[in-house]
Amino acid sequence: MKLVPRYTEIADQFAIADMPSPVSQPSVLLFNDALAEQLDISVAPENRAMVFGGNYIDPKVGPVALGYSGHQFAHFSPRLGDGRAHLLGAVADQDGLLWDIQLKGSGATPFSRGGDGRCAIGPAVREYIMSEAMHALGVPTTRCLAVVATGETVYRQPPQPGAIVTRVASSHIRVGSFQYLATQGDVTSLKALADLAIARHYPHIESTGSERYLAFLAEVIKQQITLVISWMRVGFIHGVMNTDNTLISGETIDYGPCAMMNQFDFDTVFSSIDRQGRYAFGNQPNIANWNCARLAESLIPLINEDDEQAVAVLSPLINGFAEQFNHAFTQMWAQKLGLDGHQDSDTELVAELLALLSDHKLDYTNTFNALTQSLEGDEAIPTELTQWSQKWQQRTYASSYAIMRKANPKLIPRNHIIENILKDFNQKGQSAMLSEYLQALRQPYQQDANELWCTAPQDEENYQTFCGT
Ligand code: AMP
Ligand code: MG
Repeated sequence: MKLVPRYTEIADQFAIADMPSPVSQPSVLLFNDALAEQLDISVAPENRAMVFGGNYIDPKVGPVALGYSGHQFAHFSPRLGDGRAHLLGAVADQDGLLWDIQLKGSGATPFSRGGDGRCAIGPAVREYIMSEAMHALGVPTTRCLAVVATGETVYRQPPQPGAIVTRVASSHIRVGSFQYLATQGDVTSLKALADLAIARHYPHIESTGSERYLAFLAEVIKQQITLVISWMRVGFIHGVMNTDNTLISGETIDYGPCAMMNQFDFDTVFSSIDRQGRYAFGNQPNIANWNCARLAESLIPLINEDDEQAVAVLSPLINGFAEQFNHAFTQMWAQKLGLDGHQDSDTELVAELLALLSDHKLDYTNTFNALTQSLEGDEAIPTELTQWSQKWQQRTYASSYAIMRKANPKLIPRNHIIENILKDFNQKGQSAMLSEYLQALRQPYQQDANELWCTAPQDEENYQTFCGT
């Protein structure tokens, strides 16, 4: 694996040199051959446990822990940072694009604040399943290259075996990374970070001066909208959309408390700590908008020496979020329903459907899949929707099936299925079911998936997810 250093040029306190803590008995649990091939990563199978367990470090490229701030549930923490992750560096793929390679669960860092720097096996495997499923669903996301068991115990309730996830991302620059440098008043580093993010993700931005950073913000807004739209298209609830978990690239990161929605309801929340529903399914666009506003605030020193004048030019971008989002949201529903062109009455058609879904507690994924397959005569429309569907059918046309098929998955990584697979895996230390499931999740739009994996849970009232496990 040919690594190059990343972020070390920004500022000393931004990327702090730090070594993973070696683990006693690393063994590879999961390895993503397809991703390794795509990224041109060749590490011989017998060396993978040492490399992706953090025991072997390339002597030429030192690992770093990145600093970042974060608004966590709207409360600002100036110094969060990688408390349990080490960035090994970046690799170039066949097209010359760089990908960050990060170990998560690789030991304490200067940012750990009393945490143990470790990760339990369950959440590690869950992150692998979720992120690979999201990738196959067409949602922008960080990826997982490997999960390595450490052979050590992590002290959670109850104690569990430890694991290290190798995360791959087009960058680890977060909204919180900008907040970190802005809070320290380090404008030189702030500018360097913005220029790095532009070069990495938005290289078409050629303007200079304040225009450059306004264009940057506009791009980030666009990508955040694309991201949240794709989450909502497949029923994903991120669960912890703090500014430290919001990547400038618009990729999904941090799979701790996420979950897929079963029954349709905009108010759905699974995270045990999200008592106010801040990160509920239907509130995700508002929060993405709020997070973009925090990025805009951090960019003020790059826009104008006079704060008021800076705010005057940044605000219209933030205020334009909602309209841009609504336009994309309307398009998303039109695709999910295969609508022919646009008519004013479509808004009502969608609203009526969503009201029926939530009144009758219908499963989001299975309903849209059934509507799609009904056009081919393969599935019946749920009886609760019979009357509504007569109006809908008048709005479909020759291309509806093809469009809907791409927008509506059959197989999503459902919470209760993952729980069962993790149980099986924990009991046996491996699981044939897990490999089969991962294989199936690679083709979520195909109709031949195991029906058991597509079945909605009987009861999910008590299902909860947890952060920082
Ligand atoms: P998260 O909830 O994963 O977004 O994490 C929030 C912050 O807590 C980040 O700074 C993490 O690095 C840190 N953190 C989470 N778990 C641990 C842990 N086990 N040890 C040290 N730091 C942690
Ligand atoms: Mg995080």
